[in-house]
Amino acid sequence: MQPDSEGFLYPSINETDCIGCRLCERICHELHPYEERKPLNVYAAFNKDEGIRMNSSSGGIFYLLAEKTISEGGVVFGARFDNEWQVELGYSETMEDVIPFMGSKYVQARTGAIYKEAEAFLKQGRKVLFSASPCQIAGLLHYLRKEYENLTTIDFVCHGAPSPKVWQRYLDEVATSGKKAINDIKFRNKSDGWKRFNFILSYEAENNSYSLCSCHQQNHYMRAFLSNLILRPSCHNCQAKQGRSHSDITIADFWGINNEMPEMDDDKGTSLVLVNTERGCQALDWSKVTSKESSIEAASKYNAGLSSLTQPHPRRSEFFINLDTAECIAELINKSLRPTFRRRIRITLGRYKKRIKERLEILMMGFNKEELTPLQTHQNSQTEQLSSISPKAAVSGITFRNKQIGWKTYRMEIRIGR
Ligand SMILES: Cc1cc2nc3c(=O)[nH]c(=O)nc-3n(C[C@H](O)[C@H](O)[C@H](O)COP(=O)(O)OP(=O)(O)OC[C@H]3O[C@@H](n4cnc5c(N)ncnc54)[C@H](O)[C@@H]3O)c2cc1C
Repeated sequence: MQPDSEGFLYPSINETDCIGCRLCERICHELHPYEERKPLNVYAAFNKDEGIRMNSSSGGIFYLLAEKTISEGGVVFGARFDNEWQVELGYSETMEDVIPFMGSKYVQARTGAIYKEAEAFLKQGRKVLFSASPCQIAGLLHYLRKEYENLTTIDFVCHGAPSPKVWQRYLDEVATSGKKAINDIKFRNKSDGWKRFNFILSYEAENNSYSLCSCHQQNHYMRAFLSNLILRPSCHNCQAKQGRSHSDITIADFWGINNEMPEMDDDKGTSLVLVNTERGCQALDWSKVTSKESSIEAASKYNAGLSSLTQPHPRRSEFFINLDTAECIAELINKSLRPTFRRRIRITLGRYKKRIKERLEILMMGFNKEELTPLQTHQNSQTEQLSSISPKAAVSGITFRNKQIGWKTYRMEIRIGR
């Protein structure tokens, strides 16, 4: 696997070793995607253990699945940080080693030789729980080329996979400068709530411990991720999401739960759980979960990743062209995310659209006679008429707030004669 200029890994064939069997092409999930599958059941759910939940990105459902697998002598595969704080897929045979898999890491995870390792455990008859992104699950299933009764797969509703190179540049700038040693990174710290989650990077410098903490809406890296500036190109045409990974369970954040089922929201994290197969249903210890049945329609209202593909940011290409020469990644992100002149005009127009409409209506009243009622026509010439007739005799009624053209643009109306 070789990185391209944007930092994403792609397969590269060593022509001298290649025997030309074309198996790699025949099992490529990108070339042969699975058909779409609808979930059997949809739930809003969270782990009853609050501590686990607070250390997970949403409702702590992954941990429960892992716990059951380990207690049955199985092996859990997931994503963790490596020594350089890049993200890789790995496996664990104990709950202690499952902990580094907890929490979302918004960087594309390296697969390495992980499919081969999973296959070896499966062939030994060990239970395997494999948790990864939809494309990695589709990749594993295509690689295995046969059904294993002892394999359970989990994926998540995926916004897209950000570039490891951009992540490295961000780390170099924010953390490594000034000889800081990183201790921990949390993309989804919930101390200010699940919905207002924070990005936290803890480090040591000059024998003291520090934490860099910012709300996800303010953190440069998170803004770049959520604005689709730094995602892998294939994410914008993903062949594995929306039920096409063929995972047994799909987990996600149940955004909008406060509107759909307020009783399931305490701002500590509620998961959306899509049970795609019977095996997926059995993989979870439901006695440890608080859950309520929901529907894909209810969940899709607030989670765009469920029903649509992420569109690249208009300045995505420009951003990557400038990445190597940019002196400061934070500045490049800021510059790239600044709205274009056209967009600024559109935002401003949108903001003033209502006010402009009201103003236009008032102006039209004076000029477009065809649309005026007889009463309005009369009013246009009333000033002169009023002064020329005896008020007391002529006025038949006064309304201070006539709402004929709207409550906000009310007019004073003086009726003359009968
Ligand atoms: C890149 C990315 C994009 C996501 N996009 C969305 C989205 O648009 N909408 C949404 O509702 N949810 C999204 N999620 C999922 C969400 O953030 C939670 O991970 C999910 O709800 C599970 O939460 P949990 O509390 O059950 O478990 P957690 O403990 O948070 O589960 C973490 C699980 O995710 C896996 N994981 C973490 N990082 C990665 C990674 N880089 N690559 C592969 N696997 C990883 C771990 O192996 C572990 O199994 C995304 C996650 C990632 C990693």
